[in-house]
Amino acid sequence: MSSKLYWDEKIETLPREDLEKYQTEQLSKHLELAYNNSGYYREAFDNAGVKPSDFKQLSDLAKFPFVHKKMERDRQLAKPLLGDMVAVSEEEVVFVSASSGSTGVPTLSPFTHQDFQEFQDVQSRNFWTAGVRPSDRYVHALNFTLFVGGPDVIGAQNLGALCLWVGTVPSERLLYVLKEFQPTVIWTTPSYAWYLGETAKKQGIDPAKDLAIKTIIVAGEAGGSIPATRDAIEALWNAKVFDFYGISDIFGSCAAMCSERNGLHLAEDHILVEVINPETLQPVPDGQRGEIVFTTLRKTARPMIRFRTGDIGTVNREPCPCGRTHARIYINGRLDDMLIVSGVNVFPSDIEFAIRGANEITGEYRITAITENFTTRFNVEVERSSSSTEDKNSIAEKVSQKIKTQTGVKPKEVIVLDEGELPRATHKAKRLVDLR
Ligand SMILES: [Zn+2]
Repeated sequence: MSSKLYWDEKIETLPREDLEKYQTEQLSKHLELAYNNSGYYREAFDNAGVKPSDFKQLSDLAKFPFVHKKMERDRQLAKPLLGDMVAVSEEEVVFVSASSGSTGVPTLSPFTHQDFQEFQDVQSRNFWTAGVRPSDRYVHALNFTLFVGGPDVIGAQNLGALCLWVGTVPSERLLYVLKEFQPTVIWTTPSYAWYLGETAKKQGIDPAKDLAIKTIIVAGEAGGSIPATRDAIEALWNAKVFDFYGISDIFGSCAAMCSERNGLHLAEDHILVEVINPETLQPVPDGQRGEIVFTTLRKTARPMIRFRTGDIGTVNREPCPCGRTHARIYINGRLDDMLIVSGVNVFPSDIEFAIRGANEITGEYRITAITENFTTRFNVEVERSSSSTEDKNSIAEKVSQKIKTQTGVKPKEVIVLDEGELPRATHKAKRLVDLR
């Protein structure tokens, strides 16, 4: 049983053609459900002059209007508690998660009993994709308070792993669990995985030798898909890093990295992906960067039709050597964090890509965006490793050159600090200070 390659072989390896046929049938029903049961969707489709019956093939989805976070929030505030994007009565809703509210009022994401079961089945699939098996001991180190990633632990439990519902606790407490229970898998953010490993070392625990962690699942930041960042965390822990991607508006994780570690497989039987140019709103070809747009296919409590995630990335629909046929997504960062410098799009993750892996610096960094003569420029702060004796000016020059090679533009200034001067993240790292 545990030697099987896939959690759900039939679905995960469905030929592309059959998968798209399934998506078409499912979406046709889903559009009807949204139009017939949600006040918002009825109004939005009517205003756009489209009906669910106008949808005959996947490309027809482009006729339907987009939704985005602000609309979601406005509709919720206008019709509390759940807003009028929901397509079921509140009686059918058994669970709601809330977004972190970092940009205002938290938005709620409702689930029916069946939505929740399917959500957990996708979580089991994603854990299995990252190599988690019933023989594993799994530490869920994500927030349990209203956060959509909290219940993901049920997916690991349904898979058969021994699950430790730890949540976000102080590092000493978490290290105690890692030492005493010797778990093999943990899920956290990349910056916290780094911070926790460093904290362990300071306490005389070598994460690579004294702990049993073999798999580190990360999400919430770009680092898990940046090879040099993964390498640094892996060397610290003697473990393998797998990146997951989720959004509070849909599932705790929607996509997961397989053993090939080249992009994240999206659960395409539940979520349809489009990539659009955020300015023209037109689709961009596969492989080209654009805003990721998701449409749910089965989540009935609140259908999400063409939800603009605000994340920039690419999609690859080629089959993966692992045998899975579901598209792989690659996330570069938040549209809000994108800097347009001399006409070039630069993400904090591009800068991270450029500076990780250099010996003379620690890998910690902070970007400050400024406006100068009506143009966006950016400064980058890095830290010289305490083990390095290299001149700070020479480090600054090297880092600047690496960033130029990676992004096509040079930072205005690279400031080299001493090790430990930049703040360490215990949850999600704040890498960009926007002074524009
Ligand atoms: Zn794969």
